[in-house]
Amino acid sequence: MKPSSELKEQLQVHHIRPVEMGGRDRFKNLICLCQICHKIVHKDVEKHIDTLRKYVSLYTQTGHRYTIDSIEKGYYLEV
Ligand SMILES: [Zn+2]
Repeated sequence: MKPSSELKEQLQVHHIRPVEMGGRDRFKNLICLCQICHKIVHKDVEKHIDTLRKYVSLYTQTGHRYTIDSIEKGYYLEV
């Protein structure tokens, strides 16, 4: 799910746990996704909650960004 260079700048804010599932407007529940990743995540929001939480946690700890794909596979490759 690596964003293409044109879409990189068009980030959209996503609720990791959706508001309708009790998610809040808190920074730890929000993540910026490119349009492509955002569409993929919305096909099965619940499936991606843990991966996105892990992404935010890794980013907070290390300051490095990872691909969502690499987190799902357990490889924390920086992007
Ligand atoms: Zn969203």
